[in-house]
Amino acid sequence: MSILVVDDSFDSRLLVRALLKDQGYSDIILAESAAVALEILRSQPTDGHSKVDLILMDLVMPELDGIEACRMFKQDEALQDIPIIMVTASSEVENLERAFAAGAMDFITKPLKRVELLARVRSVLKLKSEMDQRKSREEELRSLTSLDGLTGIANRRCFDEFLEDAWHQALGNHQPLALIMLDIDFFKMYNDAYGHQAGDECLRKVAKTIQSIVNCPFELAARYGGEEFSVILASSDAQYAAQVGEKARIAVVGLNVPHCRSPILPVVTVSVGVASIVPSLQSTAQELIKAADDALYYAKQNGRNQIRIASEVKG
Ligand code: GH3
Ligand code: MG
Ligand code: MG
Repeated sequence: MSILVVDDSFDSRLLVRALLKDQGYSDIILAESAAVALEILRSQPTDGHSKVDLILMDLVMPELDGIEACRMFKQDEALQDIPIIMVTASSEVENLERAFAAGAMDFITKPLKRVELLARVRSVLKLKSEMDQRKSREEELRSLTSLDGLTGIANRRCFDEFLEDAWHQALGNHQPLALIMLDIDFFKMYNDAYGHQAGDECLRKVAKTIQSIVNCPFELAARYGGEEFSVILASSDAQYAAQVGEKARIAVVGLNVPHCRSPILPVVTVSVGVASIVPSLQSTAQELIKAADDALYYAKQNGRNQIRIASEVKG
């Protein structure tokens, strides 16, 4: 846990540090200006460890004053969660309204009183820790509701949301959007031969393999349903999507999961359908899904373990 003290007065900085250290707060960082504070905050590790948990900010400072600095920190996504306590001379109390408007969480008046300083610091740190806990619970919940329970990759709901976002982005940017549908071949027979649990394990392996070929924030691999998977490629055309789909098909064959009942190969395979569209106000994401599905159906009809591309859907 660390506390950053920003004050242009050398004596004030040392006094605050002494008071806090006396109470067992050992990690105190001192900065003589808001600019130096910003530099320190920007160089913090981003993994959440040894981050600054609280800023004590002097209100009156030359150049950038405490209120301006507070407003600046609150606009920075990486810094806005760090609570700020304003430290102000009692004659400047009228400035407090501005300080709160800028995002300060509390204030302390100078000359500093030990008991008051410690009480405020303790209560803000407690609030911060409660907020952090709530945030991590929310994140946990979000991932639980967007991931498929069996395979751990994105679920259908996440697919729908991602596709809608990608659709609107592509519409605005006049860019293409591509969709890959992949379906395991003769999976009913796989279950019949090896049992449902082995089937589940096979689904996990195939999901992991499809996930591994997707590696940027504009792409999403999801379990579409049952033994069907999908990959959304935002701002990608059918040609690139076909390369990704073919890579996935080959990777699934490469898993070498035995499938003794498959009439086409002794291992588990997938059939792949690809479609892309440049969205327009007249077209819908459903058309893109249908086109990719039709291409997949064609791949199945044509012998399975292969990729088929829908002729570009006109938006
Ligand atoms: P095709 O090559 O035409 O795709 O044939 P298929 O047998 O793969 O297709 P079909 O739609 O006939 O059967 C899909 C099977 O997938 C049936 C179903 O029991 C199985 N399946 C769907 N979800 C799960 C699951 O979560 N776990 C397991 N083990 N099997 C599943
Ligand atoms: Mg199937
Ligand atoms: Mg199917």
